[in-house]
Amino acid sequence: MAQVQLQGIVKAYGALQVVHAIDLDIADGEFVVLVGPSGCGKSTTLRMIAGLEDISGGMLRIGDRVVNDLPPRDRNISMVFQNYALYPHMTVRENLGFSLKIAKRAEAEIAKAVTEAAEILSLTPLLERKPGQLSGGQRQRVAMGRAIVRHPDVFLFDEPLSNLDAKLRTQMRVEIKKLHQRLGTTIVYVTHDQVEAMTLADRIVIMRDGRIEQIGTPLEVFETPVNTFVATFIGSPP
Ligand code: ADP
Ligand code: MG
Repeated sequence: MAQVQLQGIVKAYGALQVVHAIDLDIADGEFVVLVGPSGCGKSTTLRMIAGLEDISGGMLRIGDRVVNDLPPRDRNISMVFQNYALYPHMTVRENLGFSLKIAKRAEAEIAKAVTEAAEILSLTPLLERKPGQLSGGQRQRVAMGRAIVRHPDVFLFDEPLSNLDAKLRTQMRVEIKKLHQRLGTTIVYVTHDQVEAMTLADRIVIMRDGRIEQIGTPLEVFETPVNTFVATFIGSPP
């Protein structure tokens, strides 16, 4: 587990600045949701934390290390995307264990991590199936399972539920909340869905045009929005 600290983090593509010196302190074990309209810089921010995007300015700390120049594999984070790709020719068991296998972990260690992840995500009866034999929700649970087998310090989620129908989305929210309660891992979760943000977050970070408008608990931002943008976005009463 680890805290994540963004200090004056900037992202620019050439002359185009898309993230403007944002400051954000995420506590060890906290569930933080970045929310805001499409194009406001949520994914870019998350991808900088993951190490998938170069940081143009500022300092990023994970745990007690400055990780600006550290490659993704050395950051001990796991990321779950919207368009999760499972290996279609592999069973659920093989999908879950694959990242540990390429990391050359011992067979016994892989088996233990897979059993544990399957149990946490209720995938045990499905271990010998292939992705084609699973429902959308089950596939999403396998994608999360692949993220947890590596025991990351930090989970990053980028709109993981946006491809699912409304009913499944509600179910998966509960699953994700349970996962957090069970593992206690720090989570940074991106969504454009206010309801999802309000139900999942310990704290919400509301972004607009590459800047943070407000940070607070769901109740704080709902009851005391700092401006009309936040109030409208969150749906606070006037
Ligand atoms: P969000 O996830 O909040 O929808 P993004 O972080 O994906 O937003 O994008 C933030 C802004 O950065 C958008 O205006 C987008 O067009 C721009 N952007 C993202 N990737 C690139 C890129 N490779 N080159 C130039 N602009 C980009
Ligand atoms: Mg995005």
